[in-house]
Amino acid sequence: MLFTASQLMNLFPHHQGNVSADLEIHEVIHDSRVRSHCGIYIPVAGERFDGHQFIDGAVENGAVATFWQKEKPLPQNLPDSLLVLFVEDTVKALQELASAYRKEINPTVIGITGSNGKTTTKDLTKAVLQTTFKTHATKGNFNNHIGLPLTILSMDRETEVLILEMGMNHFGEIERLSNIGEPDKAIITNIDGQHIENLGSKEGIAKAKLEIVSGIKPEGTLIIDGDEPLLINASVPVSKKRVGFAEYNDVVVQNIAVKDTVTTFEIKGKTYQIPLLGKHHAKNAAYVIQLAYEMGIDPETIKDAFGQLEMTKMRFEKHVGKNGITVINDAYNASPASMKASIQVVEEMKGYRHKILVLGDILELGDFAEEFHRSIVEVINSEITAVYTYGNHSQYIHDELKRKVPGLIAVHLEDKLELIHHVENYLQPENLILLKASRGMEFETFLEQLC
Ligand code: ATP
Ligand code: MG
Repeated sequence: MLFTASQLMNLFPHHQGNVSADLEIHEVIHDSRVRSHCGIYIPVAGERFDGHQFIDGAVENGAVATFWQKEKPLPQNLPDSLLVLFVEDTVKALQELASAYRKEINPTVIGITGSNGKTTTKDLTKAVLQTTFKTHATKGNFNNHIGLPLTILSMDRETEVLILEMGMNHFGEIERLSNIGEPDKAIITNIDGQHIENLGSKEGIAKAKLEIVSGIKPEGTLIIDGDEPLLINASVPVSKKRVGFAEYNDVVVQNIAVKDTVTTFEIKGKTYQIPLLGKHHAKNAAYVIQLAYEMGIDPETIKDAFGQLEMTKMRFEKHVGKNGITVINDAYNASPASMKASIQVVEEMKGYRHKILVLGDILELGDFAEEFHRSIVEVINSEITAVYTYGNHSQYIHDELKRKVPGLIAVHLEDKLELIHHVENYLQPENLILLKASRGMEFETFLEQLC
């Protein structure tokens, strides 16, 4: 049970409906088409649809209560027994409900934000903490102003640890999420260029992520990317643990090796292994090791948990393509740091003759698009045979390659089919192709053609 009707009526005093005070509400419904058992319906007014229109369906499917935006006319035909809670804003009401439930259950809450690596770190955290605690975590990427409260409201009453991924596009969003979730401990995985259009500068992005401290308890801890000056130098009212590659960090990630399907690394003399590729993932795992350590979990348990990881959605997917070529699809999304990280992983992968990069635009960089695209070239080394670029901004990667890496084959194309024709020359089992771009570039067409 989530709430009784009387708890709801206390929280939202403006209501109607002929209900017994001890009526139990068991779940929150945000899709009127889904069958529920004694649920409360949350009608959200979206850009294309207004959830209020679907109240009949929600009631037919088992809703016994609903929020209702005050100024909207209430249909006449609703059953008397429906508890209608009138509110200014149904999303805010959902957040208030989540906040009340979080306070009542009072688990240890872990908040995870950052430009890249939130979902990965969340999955790693869950794998480790669930060895020892009854753990509930954000499913998939449900990390926004609606997904986060729904995550809170779907935890069991017995939950001991709640892990919340917190995403954002604008100032104030992480603050809001943090104040709902009230984390005991938080992680900022890194600072990178996404949403710079809305936030003005990298400093702005760091500030927006640091909003996570606003909900942290005074005795809580903040675990940060210790290699990021914008995070190390920020003063925060809670204790800060720096995790990273640089020697000065509180937790130093050392001796990283990427092989076949795993990355191994050392922390404080202990060796760990994760089924993810790249040193950036070793750092994500290191945040989790620090967190687990603070929560009393021993290294052996952590190692076992990493061995049994279930990731939300495989990023950096390896496929066997035409003629046995290896195709790595990492075009689920992209940011400057994640594009660089993927290229570096490819460079470290052993046993290939030619490594080909197919790179597309990183979107949402606004005025900084040129600078960030040019910066990608910093990590491209002699391990790479050819770089094919596609998209308006990717032209900058191409230009920079021509200027700085003259020996490399660099081709910019404006036609996807033509690009495929070029790349087809490399279809051999000993070669490897990396596909990397923002989701909006629709690189899955390349994957289909190459596999
Ligand atoms: P979203 O904003 O879509 O929720 P996210 O922050 O949850 O993204 P993930 O889904 O975990 O991030 O990873 C997205 C991409 O970022 C992957 O391509 C991954 O390789 C890269 N990445 C993960 N961790 C880091 C990191 N610490 N530094 C740089 N890149 C990273
Ligand atoms: Mg995510």
